[in-house]
Amino acid sequence: MTSLNNANEGDTSDSLGGDCISCASDDSRDSIIDRIFDNNRKWVRDQVMLDRNYFDDLSNGQTPEILYIGCSDSRVTAEQIMGLKPGDAFIHRNIANMVLSLDLSSGCAITYAVKYLKVKHVVVCGHYNCGKLLKYETSNIS
Ligand SMILES: [Zn+2]
Repeated sequence: MTSLNNANEGDTSDSLGGDCISCASDDSRDSIIDRIFDNNRKWVRDQVMLDRNYFDDLSNGQTPEILYIGCSDSRVTAEQIMGLKPGDAFIHRNIANMVLSLDLSSGCAITYAVKYLKVKHVVVCGHYNCGKLLKYETSNIS
């Protein structure tokens, strides 16, 4: 299982542990996986350079004011589109940002955010050209 570990703070030489679930060995990694690991090492290094307490502060807990429920679509990155930092929003994503009464995952996320994190706002965010909704629309037309 791939693990992007940022808990090693200053030690960026081995900040990523584990094996990629889609890779038989390190030699067979595809370039995007290598790029992700390289980017993570750089990101850890950059965060520590900007704020040496960055990871210690994040590990002290979270007090987000927002629960964001959004689509899993790879083009919609929650924190980035809202201009927020890690710790600012509790994020739950699934296909087409759906909240169904029988969905334990979204139910748990909402309960945890509201009851324990005591978020002040719940944002349900859709987006244009959502693949799930487009599939639903086209299947109802024919
Ligand atoms: Zn979508």
